[in-house]
Amino acid sequence: MSLVVQKFGGTSVGDVDKIKNVARRVVESKKRIDHVVVVVSALGDTTDNLVGLAAQISKTPPEREMDMLLSTGEQVSMALLAMALDELGQDAISMTGQQVEILTDTGHTKAKIRHIGADRVVQELRKGRVVIVAGFQGVTSEGEITTLGRGGSDTTAVALAAALHADCCEIYTDVDGVFTADPRVVPQARKLDEVSYMEMLEMAATGARVLQSRSVEYGRNYSVPLHVRSSFHEGEGTWVKSEDDIMEKAIISAVTHDFSESKVTVVGVPDRPGIAARLFGALAEANVNVDMIIQNVSERARTDISFTVATDDLEKVRKVAGDISEAVGAEGVNLDDDVAKISLIGAGMRSHPGIAAGMFQTLADKDINIEMISTSPIKISCVVRRSDGARAVQTLHDYFNLSE
Ligand code: ASP
Ligand code: MG
Repeated sequence: MSLVVQKFGGTSVGDVDKIKNVARRVVESKKRIDHVVVVVSALGDTTDNLVGLAAQISKTPPEREMDMLLSTGEQVSMALLAMALDELGQDAISMTGQQVEILTDTGHTKAKIRHIGADRVVQELRKGRVVIVAGFQGVTSEGEITTLGRGGSDTTAVALAAALHADCCEIYTDVDGVFTADPRVVPQARKLDEVSYMEMLEMAATGARVLQSRSVEYGRNYSVPLHVRSSFHEGEGTWVKSEDDIMEKAIISAVTHDFSESKVTVVGVPDRPGIAARLFGALAEANVNVDMIIQNVSERARTDISFTVATDDLEKVRKVAGDISEAVGAEGVNLDDDVAKISLIGAGMRSHPGIAAGMFQTLADKDINIEMISTSPIKISCVVRRSDGARAVQTLHDYFNLSE
């Protein structure tokens, strides 16, 4: 028996005509595949609009109520898609996260899935129905509705595919797949036929927006092959799968950029044990994710500590880092949101020396100054001036011949 989970993102169900189009595609799939489960996002900009409404009422709306609000978006699209399938003569039923038993922790607005029951999904599939599941939402063991963080429908889909032992999870979206760079920045960017979970995780973490990171982790942990493809045509997209199953092993797979981070420097920090622990402990306490960290060499027993955070968290950081800076007798805190993070990703860099040197030289040749560097075994990231960001991506894409 074949079973596929298909996820349609917000732009794919942006209006009634697009929903009818999705219904036609699902009917076509149902001819080939025994069991089809569909996960939908909210229509178009619905979630953004709901966030906007809440913001007009409160700067800090209760997170429980945010989830009550945001979870409505997906319920609209699931019901409309069920109606569209019914209209085409395909038996279908829509279900909320609660009905499917997508159990999460209590972390409102960014809950994590703990367990998926899915018994009812299986029963409905056995009746020959297409089951449509609201993305992005779950329920706590107390019956409270939660959401899984922005872009969370991807995670609903992949987690459901894992729970149902699906053959694969198809992520239908408004782009043709995963590219070697953002095609809006690099018009010659090439669609990748396949990419490993690890590379995709690094890409998602460094600015590629096609998949929510957590969905890729699910795919990797449960070995669910993911197929990112266009909802507007039949062409093959990009397969995300385990490195062992990748046919053509490229040294470098992609260049990504992220314009949503800022650089923070705590200046003139006394160089003695415990200060970094105190600073980053306080940031963690405030729920701020820190990305790159650099500590300079110490001069006259003082040092500078720089790090990057999401620009959305900058106000929180101003307060937290400011307090610590004062408490430990540092000279002050500089906040800089005029930066870009540019990353080179490729599993092959583990076994090919000189990739980092090539990256730095390429940027130097274009007179682009590198302000911070961080690496993982399959990634090198540099922070540069925001105004140099697009040029940095283009020149690296060129240098590493990624369009071929
Ligand atoms: N509707 C939610 C959002 O916009 C979830 C999703 O689209 O994946 O973030
Ligand atoms: Mg999305």
